[in-house]
Amino acid sequence: MSSSRKIYVLAPGRQKVPRSPPPSSPAATAVMKANRARNTRPEVALRRALWALGTRGYRLSPRYVPGRPDITFAGDRLAVFVHGCFWHRHGCEKAGRELPKSNRKYWEIKFQLNVDRDERKVRTLENLGWRVLTVWECEIERAVETVARKVGAERTVPHVSMLSKDQTRRLAGL
Ligand SMILES: [Zn+2]
Repeated sequence: MSSSRKIYVLAPGRQKVPRSPPPSSPAATAVMKANRARNTRPEVALRRALWALGTRGYRLSPRYVPGRPDITFAGDRLAVFVHGCFWHRHGCEKAGRELPKSNRKYWEIKFQLNVDRDERKVRTLENLGWRVLTVWECEIERAVETVARKVGAERTVPHVSMLSKDQTRRLAGL
């Protein structure tokens, strides 16, 4: 099988998007690294801060919660997404970092798909009666404790010890 064979995904508007361009530049490599889905640096920092404040009882990306939020308090129907500013296009300085120069079209479409997917996840959860918090990498870097307090304040069910999967599902109406 030829290694140069391209794999395509279909973007909205039926454009064909090459699945992954070669990491042709340091910028492209950085973007691909930033796309590691779980346990990103801001996510880990926030979890540590939550733990330190005694805000516990969350689960990480459970499969049974639509959109698989990064931090999920199912009993509270509270979902927290931790977004990298560049990758999820926060309107801050970090997000404004230069786009990879090659494969520009690819990155533009890729970013748009990310933003659309993020919005869809929020809508789906809200329609199920969940509250959704989106917290940004730059906020966490600036004041992780403030962010952790904000998350803790959104909880409605006082701390209970870790519930079973079935119990959380029931509480979460899933
Ligand atoms: Zn930001």
